[in-house]
Order: sequence, then structure tokens, then C-alpha cells
Amino acid sequence: MTAVPPLAERLHAVRDGIADAAREASRDVAEITTIVVTKFHPATMVRELHDLGVRDFGESRHQEAQPKIADLADLDATWHFVGQLQSKKARQVAAYVDVIHSVDRDSLATAIAGYPLEVFIQVNLTEDSGRGGAEPEAIHRLAEHLEGAAGLTLRGLMAVAPLGGEARAAFARLRQLSEQLVQIAPRASALSMGMSGDYRDAILEGATHLRIGTAITGKRPEHG
Ligand SMILES: *Cc1c(COP(=O)(O)O)cnc(C)c1O
Repeated sequence: MTAVPPLAERLHAVRDGIADAAREASRDVAEITTIVVTKFHPATMVRELHDLGVRDFGESRHQEAQPKIADLADLDATWHFVGQLQSKKARQVAAYVDVIHSVDRDSLATAIAGYPLEVFIQVNLTEDSGRGGAEPEAIHRLAEHLEGAAGLTLRGLMAVAPLGGEARAAFARLRQLSEQLVQIAPRASALSMGMSGDYRDAILEGATHLRIGTAITGKRPEHG
């Protein structure tokens, strides 16, 4: 018998967890995309995950993502940018990813216009306006801007549950905001929410895109 490598074990455990949560929510697991967030991990791990059938990968820092994704150009993969984005870096990022989950202001929408991209509006669900994400009141105007921009396809809303808060309640809030958004943007019904510690809650509240790092990759290597 050969030992199952830990990476494969963790991936299978998360896939089982996702299937269980989907069953609990009476949802079809096929409507849920799992993005494996590989930030701080080397390209070799991405190749291993690709060999295990993963096709959706997430990165969150331009300096790291640009060379890594260039290295992996031979893979059949969809690249998702999930991190905070500076306006002056946004066009560069737009040139090498397929999906951006963190559009939260007009200047970013303007910067990435013209690239063939799927985008999510990141919403700030905390009381702290300094955190990433558009305020809920700003969603509709930003959605109209994105829908009018060349190249861009608005898929829906993204959020990170507040630290130490009730993840389920935050995801329920994003779902409510999504129900309002589809009144003006019927195709923008996707919900990017749920990470290693809270993906079950996210699935129960309708997540269509999970962004899962450490539960699959293991602890991130030390970084400064
Ligand atoms: C790192 C990151 C994730 C994955 O987080 P884990 O807790 O490791 O699963 C998801 N979303 C965003 C925006 C991230 O930066």
C-alpha cells in the first residue's frame, strides 16, 4: 500500500465537507466552485493540486501572483484574484487573471475596463470602513458602472466574514444584498463567500464560490 500524500488527504477531506454541507442545504454540489487559494505556496504545489483535479486557483498579492501564474501558463486553470487591489496595480493584474473578486470602487472598475474578466463586487460587512470592500449602499451604483464597462462581466458579490464575528449572519446579510442586486443585474447572482473555517456556513447561505486556503494547502510558509 502506498501512503496517500497529505495534500491529497486534505483536499479530499474538504471535498467531503463541501459535499456534506451541500447535502444539508439540499443543494447540488456541482453549482459550487471551490477555489484553492495558493498564496505563499510555490508553483510546485499548484501543479500537484492540478494533478489532483483542481482547476480554480486563487492568489491575493500581485508581486507573488504575477511570476507564479506566468510559470504555470501551461496549466489548464482559471485564476482568481481575491486580495486587496491598488488602483495602480489593477491593470497589470487584469492582464493575467480570469476573475477578480475584490472590486470595491469606481477607480478599480475604470482601471480594469477593457479586459475580458469576470468580476465580483467585494462588500465590507464590518463596522470598520477602513477594511476592504464597498459599503452596502454603494453596491448598486458600482454594479451599474461595471455592467457598462467594456469586457467585464459582473458575476455577483464577495465578502470575508468579520473576524471573531458570526460568519453565518454575515453570509446571510450578503445573500440579502445579492437578492437586491439581481433586481437590477439579473445575471449577477453568484456569491463568493466561505473560507477554510466557515465554508459550511457559506454553503448553507448559498455560496457559489468558496475560497479555501489553509484547510487544503496546510499552514502557509512563514512570511514577513
Ligand atoms: C487567504 C484568503 C482566503 C483563504 O483563507 P483560508 O482561511 O486560508 O482558507 C480566502 N479569501 C481571501 C480574500 C484570502 O485573502
